[in-house]
Amino acid sequence: MISTAPLPATLTRKHIEAAIATLQPVHQVMIRLLFLQYMEPTQDDITFMARERAEPNERAGGYGATRFGNAPVPRRQMTVVPKEWIDAIELKVRQYRAQVCGQRLRFDLQVGFMTDYSDGLRSELEAMETLLRTECGSAPETLADLRAQAKLAPVSYALRKLAARAEKQEIEEADYLRERLSIECQAHIRRLDRFKKIFDRTVLERHAFEMTSLSDEHLAMIWGIAKGPLMARRVKAVERFASALATTMKGGLNEEAVAAAVNAGLGKRLAGGSKNDGISSKPLVIPDDPWSRALQALADEPVAPFTPKPCDHDGGGKTLVAKMRNFTGYRLGEEEEIKLWDRTVQCLHCLTLLRTAQQESGTIGLAADEVLARVKTRTAMPRKEAAEPVASQSPAPPEEKTQDLEEILRPFIGTDAGQKGASTW
Ligand SMILES: [Zn+2]
Repeated sequence: MISTAPLPATLTRKHIEAAIATLQPVHQVMIRLLFLQYMEPTQDDITFMARERAEPNERAGGYGATRFGNAPVPRRQMTVVPKEWIDAIELKVRQYRAQVCGQRLRFDLQVGFMTDYSDGLRSELEAMETLLRTECGSAPETLADLRAQAKLAPVSYALRKLAARAEKQEIEEADYLRERLSIECQAHIRRLDRFKKIFDRTVLERHAFEMTSLSDEHLAMIWGIAKGPLMARRVKAVERFASALATTMKGGLNEEAVAAAVNAGLGKRLAGGSKNDGISSKPLVIPDDPWSRALQALADEPVAPFTPKPCDHDGGGKTLVAKMRNFTGYRLGEEEEIKLWDRTVQCLHCLTLLRTAQQESGTIGLAADEVLARVKTRTAMPRKEAAEPVASQSPAPPEEKTQDLEEILRPFIGTDAGQKGASTW
């Protein structure tokens, strides 16, 4: 039975479900709760938990029944589990599942958005450099200087100044194009740099979350039993599951592998550590114990569709969506972009809107010549007779509009402790 590579390379949901099916009901319930972000507890699981509330002394040693203001009922009298007890458990399971699935979707949307956004930035950057070389006659050294100075360049100020000069017709079209492209190049380099940092951090946070199960406190809340017996069950369930998984996959587990699985199943050692441990500095290592392997296999599946609760951050208007469209089309100023991103990621519904705006923006997966045409149109000198249809990133938005957005988002700001770090980038 001793083996150094305890499980074969491919581990799928089918193996995991088959292993769970061999367990005693109490351990099945526990494993499905621990896999809550990937699995829905069955009706039998819920009835099982409700029955334990009804018969706390028989099984769990807790006092769950008194939570509903009823004295524990002796077992012989318990023929049917009261419906309200089943409903109460069901509600808790639904609430927790919505929370963990929502968090999973949130990571997925953020990573998806940033991936496409950065790909677009890189393509646009390439197009801009091409235009600078071919249409503005910029030398390679000039382009290198632009890149080198991007970090400290006063981009917003330069864009405003350029817009004012164009407005007063103090600049030739060729000069305008060269200056505009140069400034936007630098703005894009900064965007890329900024999103690279957020992306890396988000990927690590996502991984840590994927490898996590509910804590004993939360499990006890759902199940309605005391923490002590719950912890013992958790250990037993993970142990049994790891062995069952090995059997299902026709492998074997040595003691060390089972111990590693139990350790991982207790959730004490999150891969990547916690945010406070300096999460971004730790490399992404996927442990090889059966528990972590199972979680990873489930995490590798696409995120299940999930409809977030609607919000009213846009106040029923189109201000927010219009701003999001500008964001996805690289037409939003730097400060505005940072502000909008910080607020959007705090609300799952808003984040969904942003991702949808991006997917409908026609900026994803464009061919090089299409990107070039887009950039050319956006950076052309505005004409007096035909003003730009959308606010370019140069002029600062009117004070009133900014305030509107703040009002719209105010109820939301700072409600999500997990996102507080976002303001530091
Ligand atoms: Zn919202």
